[in-house]
Amino acid sequence: MISSFFKKLLLSRKIEIEDGEFKVFDKNFFLGSLRSFVFLREEMKRKNSLDTLYKFGEEISKEIYDYVKKFGGRKEEIFRFWLNMTNLAGFGAIEIIEVKDKEHVAIINCNNSPLAEYYSKLGKKDKVDEILAGMIGGFFSRWFGKHVTCEEIACVAKGNRYCQFKVRG
Ligand SMILES: [Zn+2]
Repeated sequence: MISSFFKKLLLSRKIEIEDGEFKVFDKNFFLGSLRSFVFLREEMKRKNSLDTLYKFGEEISKEIYDYVKKFGGRKEEIFRFWLNMTNLAGFGAIEIIEVKDKEHVAIINCNNSPLAEYYSKLGKKDKVDEILAGMIGGFFSRWFGKHVTCEEIACVAKGNRYCQFKVRG
């Protein structure tokens, strides 16, 4: 099955895969396998630099947010685009449980993080979604207009039923 978001991008020629380039709205992206990403994560864990993965996630979301905003996207449109891009990038389907704009807090679930499912099959018991946490933190830093952090408080890789993320200022 192909997501309707991807179909829309294809039909409106907003996605280009040609001559060694993968572009969405003129922005270059690259694809990597989940297995190679696990290798990268294990290397970073060994070097005590998992926080870099979080910052990497933050950058991804801030760039998407700023890009859509530059073209006049309203907050709701930016939000929907970000959700679709997160989905398209293979990080799992994100579900917003609660957002409190005034308090700068939010609870987000991800029911099917492919990374967490991969790790749970290896029998490891640890939370593993630093990039996704960073992506959520980066997005809500823009959304609230204030730097917030995001912590993964439940993870499928730890044996929880879903991954859950808590955003706070
Ligand atoms: Zn997780």
